[in-house]
Amino acid sequence: MTMTIAQVFDVVRAVKRPLCVFDIDSTLMNTGSRSHRILREAAQEAFPELAPFADKLCSCNMAYHLTDDLRRLGFDNEKELAAVDRFWATRFFTDAYVLHDLPYPGAVDYVRDLHREGVFIYYLSGRDEPNMGRGTRESLVKHGFPLDDRTTMHLKPDFAMNDLRFKRDAFADIQAMGYTTVAIFENEPANANAFKEHFPDAAVFLIRTITSNNPAPLRTDVLPFDSFEDR
Ligand SMILES: [Mg+2]
Repeated sequence: MTMTIAQVFDVVRAVKRPLCVFDIDSTLMNTGSRSHRILREAAQEAFPELAPFADKLCSCNMAYHLTDDLRRLGFDNEKELAAVDRFWATRFFTDAYVLHDLPYPGAVDYVRDLHREGVFIYYLSGRDEPNMGRGTRESLVKHGFPLDDRTTMHLKPDFAMNDLRFKRDAFADIQAMGYTTVAIFENEPANANAFKEHFPDAAVFLIRTITSNNPAPLRTDVLPFDSFEDR
């Protein structure tokens, strides 16, 4: 069965208690401006040799890890890269910096329109609640994503929690909600594949933004798409 992100609206109108799941990082939100902001601060505060790299990069072309961007541009001082990675990580996973993220084109309208149709919106993210919960809520509201009693935001309860364990808990939680899971949106092939395995009747969509290194081969029944504006 093949389906487009536009056809999700037809399905939600035809089922009882529809629910859609949205990953946040690199699915709804572009984290590039968060990383680029940290790179500029790094160049100003601690690593002046990074200034030319900050000029060459922009929020539109950054990978998930800042150090991957720097290596790609030829910065190969591994000792320095380790220090830059620490500078990046102590900021990237925090309430304050998450506010620099920007929604991908069409993402806010897509989620908002589904919510208006009566869909329960389930935000699921590996961000951790203690360090990023407040900032994530503020960022969603700031950009106009729905956040009310017909939504839930499920983050990791603890930064160090194992990803697989978190995901399994989340699958069980989604199933226990008593809704019909209609569609799931992800950017990581491995996560999208796992969702399709656990929710064979749902449409699982993969937005082609960025992925972590060495992405898993995508299942043929996961549906790739390029933009929330394609509807
Ligand atoms: Mg993601």
